[in-house]
Amino acid sequence: MTFGPIFSFLFGTIIGSFLNVVIFRYNTGHSINGRSGCLSCGQTLSARDLIPILSWLFLRGRCRKCGSRISIQYPLVEFFTGLLFVALFWMSSEFIGSPVAAASYFVWHAIIFATLIIIFVYDLKHKIIPDGLSYFFAGLTLIQALITNPIYPTHTTISILNLLSGPILFLPFFALWLISSGRWIGLGDGKLALGIGWYLGFISGLSAVVLAFWIGAVFAVIFMLTERLRLGRKNITMKTEIPFAPFLIIGTIIEFFLRIDVIGIGIFF
Ligand SMILES: [Zn+2]
Repeated sequence: MTFGPIFSFLFGTIIGSFLNVVIFRYNTGHSINGRSGCLSCGQTLSARDLIPILSWLFLRGRCRKCGSRISIQYPLVEFFTGLLFVALFWMSSEFIGSPVAAASYFVWHAIIFATLIIIFVYDLKHKIIPDGLSYFFAGLTLIQALITNPIYPTHTTISILNLLSGPILFLPFFALWLISSGRWIGLGDGKLALGIGWYLGFISGLSAVVLAFWIGAVFAVIFMLTERLRLGRKNITMKTEIPFAPFLIIGTIIEFFLRIDVIGIGIFF
């Protein structure tokens, strides 16, 4: 049956549209409650404007009343949340022997994914990771590391190495931050890495950070080349800030699903 994946996708897009609201209102003083409206003219959105992905497509990304642009963030977050929930559904069905275990696995990781999606978009937009979000993520993942094994979620064996992997992954970021007095990186990436270590365990956690650096480096080169073509050589500086949390989160999602030991460190443990 394909009902599960379809339902997971639709459910994910609805959660995604809620995440959009959280992203737009977090740290702005607006409450999460209250009806959504156009940011330009204040027109409140009716039910037909609130259908994930489709409303944005039908309106061609513009407000029904005043015609001002509606961010492409809305359909993108809805679509990718849906996609991740489908993948999570497939992971959960490994535990299909016990529907309760499968459902709780799905819900737990859906909450963590939702947190990571908020951090991803927030850092992309504002170049900062709010402490509240990374501490929430670290708190959840510490709880997980204290009660299960991240690689075998049905095992309740706790690995000391996995418990240490949060602080171990935090340390290099902390060192870079300390040495550069905060000029090279902010400490926000380190706080995120703390949770990544607890979430994935040592081998996958370290692999996620290494993947993030690789993907980030490739992206930075492409970004600098296109900027140079666009702006000419004068205006290009190394100071152009590229937020790092999105790469850490891409690395984390890849490792969550694929568990690639990118540096072959597994042979030592
Ligand atoms: Zn409007």
